[in-house]
Amino acid sequence: MFYKMVMLMLSKKLLNFESFEVMDILALAQKLENEGKKVIHLEIGEPDFDTPKPIVDEGIKALKEGKTHYTDSRGILELRKRISELYKNKYKADINPDNIIITGGSSLGLFFALSSIIDEGDEVLIQNPCYPCYKNFIRFLGAKPVFCDFTVESLEKHLSDKTKAIIINSPSNPLGEVVDKEIYEFAYENIPYIISDEIYNGLVYEEGKCYSAIEFDENLEKTILINGFSKLYAMTGWRIGYVISNEKIIEAVLKLQQNLFISAPTISQYAALKAFEKETEKEINSMIKDFNKRRKLVLKYVKDFGWKVNNPIGAYYVFPNIGEDGREFAYKLLKEKYVALTPGIGFGSKGKNHIRISYANSYENIKEGLERIKDFLDENRRR
Ligand code: PLP
Repeated sequence: MFYKMVMLMLSKKLLNFESFEVMDILALAQKLENEGKKVIHLEIGEPDFDTPKPIVDEGIKALKEGKTHYTDSRGILELRKRISELYKNKYKADINPDNIIITGGSSLGLFFALSSIIDEGDEVLIQNPCYPCYKNFIRFLGAKPVFCDFTVESLEKHLSDKTKAIIINSPSNPLGEVVDKEIYEFAYENIPYIISDEIYNGLVYEEGKCYSAIEFDENLEKTILINGFSKLYAMTGWRIGYVISNEKIIEAVLKLQQNLFISAPTISQYAALKAFEKETEKEINSMIKDFNKRRKLVLKYVKDFGWKVNNPIGAYYVFPNIGEDGREFAYKLLKEKYVALTPGIGFGSKGKNHIRISYANSYENIKEGLERIKDFLDENRRR
């Protein structure tokens, strides 16, 4: 009896851990697909493109050459050197490869970053709305996520003596916006640590400066920069990302990596070496062009629907205010028209009347999805 009771008790740490609503929507969409319905997926945040060929070929080569063992917990030196060169070319930054750790996706990088600086009772500022996993990671570590607008006034208002860090995500999921210079400047002046999630860096389609945190803190005194290969290089399933920071933080992240994961996936590390080749760049540039065409298509429809929308110039999301409850709308639309979207509320309270449209799907599919939404709106407005 006692044994059974113990088995049923889950960790208290998980009580505040919310499920990721996009996965609930996806599960319902898949149920409908199993019933034979053609669902249009505009909910998923991963590129529909295949990983560029040079990367795939390098992965196969690594496998055939038996590169199937653990690596150094920091990651292979060649890859860390390439990443360092990338920041040198793009931002004229001098990053020692030893200040970089390769992780199993940027997700792990984020978790390591937070775990290395957060104590129970600390507060972490995050944008309302933002990537839903942030709040769960923060709560899991016994700290408090503090949602705020990314304006200086709101940051000032929410700053307290418990504020340990801010997470800046630019371009952002779900807004598709880039974060203004004054937000970085405020953060560097007032907050002990800046965790900069730059996973969508490179996916920007209009003029508009997308900063990297390295531009504000070349010695990495306060910065924990998180990036990876999932989004820009269409490598979501390879699970590869990285953390860049100062020696102290890197030592802490290294300890976590050694104990929890040993090293990032070896084959993916070798494959990622090809991400920086000219040939890959060509494929990436053509992908970016396609994303931009799709973005314009979504914006055109969304404006025709009469929905209010901000200025999404990056990532691959549009986050319109639809003037009604986004969750009710999303579930009704999926059940009636088989178009899957993500309700905005999962990203923060400010997302209540929003939905997130991901344009990481083909132009044709997006167009069909938008046409179905148009029919849905016409029918509902006539009712
Ligand atoms: N950060 C943001 C803002 C994201 O949207 C995502 C994935 O959707 C991640 C991090 C995680 O990406 P990765 O595949 O590198 O773990």
